[in-house]
Amino acid sequence: MLLFFPPSTTTITTSFFLSLSKLTPSFSLLRHCSTMFPINLQPHAFAGNPIKCKTPKSNDPFSPYSALETLKTHLLSNTHDSVSPHFKVLPFRNGRPLAGSQGSAPNWHLGWLSLGDCKSLLSDSVVKLEDNSLVYLGAKSEEDSVYWAIDVSEDDMLVDELGKKYFSFVELRTLMVATDWSDPLAMADLAVAGHARALLEWHGVSRFCGRCGCKNIPMEAGKRVQCSNELCKKRTYPRIDPVVIMLVIDRDNDRALLGRQSRYVPRMWSCLAGFIEPGESLEEAVKRETWEETGIEVGEVVYHSSQPWPVGPSSMPCQLMVGFFAYAKSLEIDVDKDELEDARWHSREDVKKALTFAEYEKAQRTAAAKVEQICKGVSQGQNFSSDFNTESGELAPMFIPGPFAIAHHLISTWVHQGVPVSGSDNQLNQPSSSFSNL
Ligand SMILES: [Zn+2]
Repeated sequence: MLLFFPPSTTTITTSFFLSLSKLTPSFSLLRHCSTMFPINLQPHAFAGNPIKCKTPKSNDPFSPYSALETLKTHLLSNTHDSVSPHFKVLPFRNGRPLAGSQGSAPNWHLGWLSLGDCKSLLSDSVVKLEDNSLVYLGAKSEEDSVYWAIDVSEDDMLVDELGKKYFSFVELRTLMVATDWSDPLAMADLAVAGHARALLEWHGVSRFCGRCGCKNIPMEAGKRVQCSNELCKKRTYPRIDPVVIMLVIDRDNDRALLGRQSRYVPRMWSCLAGFIEPGESLEEAVKRETWEETGIEVGEVVYHSSQPWPVGPSSMPCQLMVGFFAYAKSLEIDVDKDELEDARWHSREDVKKALTFAEYEKAQRTAAAKVEQICKGVSQGQNFSSDFNTESGELAPMFIPGPFAIAHHLISTWVHQGVPVSGSDNQLNQPSSSFSNL
């Protein structure tokens, strides 16, 4: 099988494909084709967090343990800003990170505050700046900086105060659409914000022990919580909710099965997806969800890549989208109307048109300009639901989610399969014998 990834497409490395192919027979096709994958691929939106790539050992001054001890000292002193390492704090309000925006080419950035600024900002606040209220995010030793997040949702006065500095609390989903995905620094900011939101939202729903009901206490600089009941002491770690997301392809590899949920904006179609149930493998979840939602029976299941998704409901602080190609053994669709509004087979040509006419860059720039307005206080409203209509412009008769979503990359990978980039080998146009054997 040939899977061709266009340059802008994201996925995992060849070595990871190889490691997966050793785990299960379902990945055996990847072993065959893995050498054809480019390996210098950008990560998905919300992946590739630069301050989380490596947790320092506990004796390192940038480790969660050491940084927490230094934080306690900083909080008691008045000279914290000049002391190494520098602490930078990202406030969140109701799941929204503090963001700023400036310049003629609008682009947002995270609203990091120094620990000193944070201290004076919260001096009279109902939100107390304590070591337990800050959550460790990571560090950059080369910049002598440790990064923290704090939830300031309970303080109503901060919005006005920070607004004077042209900062605003902006929906992470809005920032996601506004992010220039070709800009590594912007993508890094998005990943940091996603990680921080996921951690803080998890802390928000983990205040009490699930076993005995006593209060939980943050531990290890917020990396976990522990029950305060001496007889229980149950440890709880940040929760991840895995979701399978799959592009179902017909036996001839000519059509893809796309679905519509009722909550989607008009004309938007996407991959099928569903939560993995306890005691179920990823492949089984792909097959079960496809069957339940559309009545299509799936055979071969092939892994593509995964994406952290911290912009779902607050009850699920961070979903992990695990992307697959799934090859249909049947064609007749029987839509479960409780799950989907519609599901149809779409030809490769139609899906390609949807991608061709899409105006993702225009939508991104529009969203970035709106973020700038919000940060300047021009627009107070943050209901961006209508903006998702413009995610792919006005021209396309149908469209698929933008490049910030793994669904986009599953679909565009399939559309471009076998289509060579300029200068590449024509043999990529040849249909894959592995596909035709399925
Ligand atoms: Zn307990």
